[in-house]
Amino acid sequence: MKAFSYLTPRNEPRIGIEYHHRQYDFTYCWEVFKDIQSSGRGPLLSFLQIMVEMEYFSAASFKEVLDVIKQFKSLKDFVIKQDVRYQVPIGRPQKIICIGRNYAAHAAETGHKPPSEPMFFGKAVSSMIPHQGNIVLPAGSGPVEHEVELGIVISKRGKKIPEQDAYDYVAGYTIVNDISERGLQRKAMEKGHPWFLAKSIDTFCPIGPYLVPADAIKDPHHLDISLKINGDVKQQANTSDMIFKIPRLIHYISTYISLEPGDIIATGTPEGVSPIQDGDILEAEVEHLGILRNFVFEEKS
Ligand code: MG
Repeated sequence: MKAFSYLTPRNEPRIGIEYHHRQYDFTYCWEVFKDIQSSGRGPLLSFLQIMVEMEYFSAASFKEVLDVIKQFKSLKDFVIKQDVRYQVPIGRPQKIICIGRNYAAHAAETGHKPPSEPMFFGKAVSSMIPHQGNIVLPAGSGPVEHEVELGIVISKRGKKIPEQDAYDYVAGYTIVNDISERGLQRKAMEKGHPWFLAKSIDTFCPIGPYLVPADAIKDPHHLDISLKINGDVKQQANTSDMIFKIPRLIHYISTYISLEPGDIIATGTPEGVSPIQDGDILEAEVEHLGILRNFVFEEKS
């Protein structure tokens, strides 16, 4: 079970779910479900609404809605017939928090030792683009590199979350490609400045295609993770190699910063980062989360 945001040919935002290899219009399912329950609310248009209105975001709850509908209507009526235009799974999260050097082999390839404590930086929310969107390299930019990462999406507000409760705050998982402008980043690092600019350029945060509910993933620390450029494998690892695991990250961040529904945590990239250029097709893949495909263009000066 995978969920996604998409636009109809009339540019209406909707929620879809992929279930047994079919894509269903879940916004429509929800309308009918609410009708059956005679509690007439409007249609669901975003994942944030699902988190608030359904109170939980899970494969089990999606299935529950489908099971109720099935008693009255054929699910065939809800199948999406046209090609979907994917949108960023979480429209406007309050924040994107990224973890640096969370895979020892990646730390080594950048000339650093693995950190003894998690290290964090932010990425501007405005840098997000969906599956099949274009990554636009500014004219004359320095080397730009890909970083495939497992993304965590937060389900509910939390502060000072104990490690043992961390998964209660995870709505699901997605793929993040933490595109990085190394010229700006190196310059900033040499001066001891933050990297925010190098990470936050418009279009430098491809994300999606899906938000896979947490209960559909047995173990988020046992997923193959890879990135291909034009079909050539550049990064290939497993999330079991993460230095700091998800409960530790959620606990550590929420000690200082309130986490809100829809917030995204990008958990770090494995080794094999490499430059991208005009004309490249990037495919970031995480087992069970699909393939996030994006096209690279260089802006003409
Ligand atoms: Mg990164």
